[in-house]
Amino acid sequence: MSRFWSPLVQQLKPYVAGEQLDLPDLIKLNTNENPYGPAPEVLAAIAQANADSLRLYPDPGAVALRHTIAAHHGVRAEQVFVGNGSDEVLAHAFAAFFRQGLPLLMPDVSYSFYPVYAQLYGIPVETVPVNADFSIDVQAYARPGGDVGGVVIANPNAPTGMALPLEQIERLLNLWPDRVVLIDEAYVDFGGESAVSLLARHPNLLVVQTLSKSRGLAGLRVGYAIGSPALIEGLSRIKGCFNSYPLDRLAQAGAQASFEADVYFRTTCERVMQSRVHLTEGLRALGFEVLPSSANFVFARHPLRDAAELAQALKSQAILVRHFKLPRIDQFLRITVGTGAQCHRLLDVLAQMQVHR
Ligand SMILES: *Cc1c(COP(=O)(O)O)cnc(C)c1O
Repeated sequence: MSRFWSPLVQQLKPYVAGEQLDLPDLIKLNTNENPYGPAPEVLAAIAQANADSLRLYPDPGAVALRHTIAAHHGVRAEQVFVGNGSDEVLAHAFAAFFRQGLPLLMPDVSYSFYPVYAQLYGIPVETVPVNADFSIDVQAYARPGGDVGGVVIANPNAPTGMALPLEQIERLLNLWPDRVVLIDEAYVDFGGESAVSLLARHPNLLVVQTLSKSRGLAGLRVGYAIGSPALIEGLSRIKGCFNSYPLDRLAQAGAQASFEADVYFRTTCERVMQSRVHLTEGLRALGFEVLPSSANFVFARHPLRDAAELAQALKSQAILVRHFKLPRIDQFLRITVGTGAQCHRLLDVLAQMQVHR
């Protein structure tokens, strides 16, 4: 607390990101980073951009990158907005579309940054409980005769990893045709179905994706939104009141090269999905319940062992996983799918802890 803080700052509860410990031999399975990193072409493009001209401001509209992203998704460049990580894109979307003086609907178990943005922008939130099996019940987002400020859902959801089929997303879009429905697809490349294909029929849909997970570029900070030109213009208006240059030259060049290295992208996603199968089977053999994941992490609980204690015990063995001290999920661990070797090591250490007893 400080007397210099505004009333707003005094009441903020910032998001707490996963630890970034820098220890030798650390197995880092706590922030859903990609163990394979970006394609070599990305590093070459960044080095090239560096030699060119860091003296000059970057393109404020990131036009070349937006064209590349548009081509990748089969949309037009006016339908693409880019930002400094999808977290920034999400924040701008909250400011642009959800300040309606009405409750924003989101699942009770979801990305814990959403309530933080809502608080920052004074948006009331109404959480909708997920089912007992952690699936999302779309019909529970209806409010006959009522109104809402919008809807935000991560698909696949975080931190459960569970995916919602596109026909359910479409039902949601039809429930609220006059409100923005934001679908956060941070993990869609690991086996989910993208809602981008629904854009032509639903001008209220905003899809947000990131290069942090599937493209191994969490450190470069590039995310984007795809939507109708009107929604993209709304985001651009907020951006123009906030930071003209959210993406630096290195980020624009590296991101563009990532989309050009498509074979690398698909191969590494495939490898993560294969490791996910082995990790899930291994955890189940040790007695864990593992939710069905379409992401690059699994969400698992052990019927006999406390999750916080397990996370602590793993940390003492130089393995980081994520534990959320939150209602309904405080007995779960969120474990990022690492390389095959990292997953084996995790399973070995858990076996040594005799979790199967
Ligand atoms: C990781 C994550 C993000 C943020 O990604 P950045 O692009 O790195 O900011 C957004 N949404 C969800 C659900 C995530 O898990």
